[in-house]
Amino acid sequence: MRIAMLARNPQLYSHVRLKEAAEARGHSLEILNTTRCNVNIASHRPTLTYNGKTLADYDAVIPRIGASITHYGLAVLRQFEMQGVWCLNESVAIGRSRDKLRSMQILAKYGIGLPLTAYANDPKAAEEIIKAVKGPPVVIKLLEGTQGIGVVLAETMTSAKSVIEAFRGANVNILVQEFIAEAGGTDIRALVVGGKVVGAMKRKGAGDDFRSNLHRGGSAEVARITPAERSTAVSAARRMGLNVCGVDMLRSNHGPVVMEVNSSPGIEGIEKATGKDLATVIIQFVEQNAKMGRTKTKGKG
Ligand code: ADP
Repeated sequence: MRIAMLARNPQLYSHVRLKEAAEARGHSLEILNTTRCNVNIASHRPTLTYNGKTLADYDAVIPRIGASITHYGLAVLRQFEMQGVWCLNESVAIGRSRDKLRSMQILAKYGIGLPLTAYANDPKAAEEIIKAVKGPPVVIKLLEGTQGIGVVLAETMTSAKSVIEAFRGANVNILVQEFIAEAGGTDIRALVVGGKVVGAMKRKGAGDDFRSNLHRGGSAEVARITPAERSTAVSAARRMGLNVCGVDMLRSNHGPVVMEVNSSPGIEGIEKATGKDLATVIIQFVEQNAKMGRTKTKGKG
């Protein structure tokens, strides 16, 4: 097969591993720098050019679009979809996952466990919102944050109110969430591929940080997940419409709650923690599913 991977950094562990795994199985995998793909919108002929050449004849696209270039990256991906090229994750699903509020609304609609969450617009409503999520304490999150940046734990009503007021005063969009103290600074990341959990790890924050992001110095080990966690991860992936994703969950005393569904999950932490070759699992899924015209969204929306 001829596979294109949309990614900016060919050196990144996940990208190197996916390329190796594809080549080991006899495929070619070209890493295309997403921001250098030019979108040509012409009636009935959606094309893409790259270094002066037209991109054509790919059997599959693996999108690894960074959060900072979501808008442009999705335009490029839609162009492939409009040509009928099969994409591992589709543009509409990635778009949903990039909006934390929209994701939570979708998951809530289908009864998937979530931390109590409120969306604050009016800074004057801070107290009401804090009470709505049974706080303080509460966790306040920037809607556009990633890698744990912009996630704040406010322990008292006074501090929670002032953080909400400061963010809203600066016109920053935030979510206010119930603090799952019993998770003890640990979360579970399940990698879902084609409707199955293929690996899971437990991440623990550095020192007394309540945030367990590996980018913030957290550590990871293999996790044995419960049937409830497994089915929560699988349902979250299905409801978001993602073939491949990382589902981040907290172990709350009312069962697993989903914090986030990541549509471009890194595989370094989870391959190392589980000792599994997950890149090959992903490539095998591509092999089994990539067919011209099988992309459902055809670039709409
Ligand atoms: P990001 O998308 O920036 O990584 P997350 O929402 O995943 O932000 O939060 C970062 C980390 O903070 C999580 O991995 C988790 O350890 C911790 N965390 C987030 N939300 C909560 C919460 N409601 N209760 C307890 N811990 C939380």
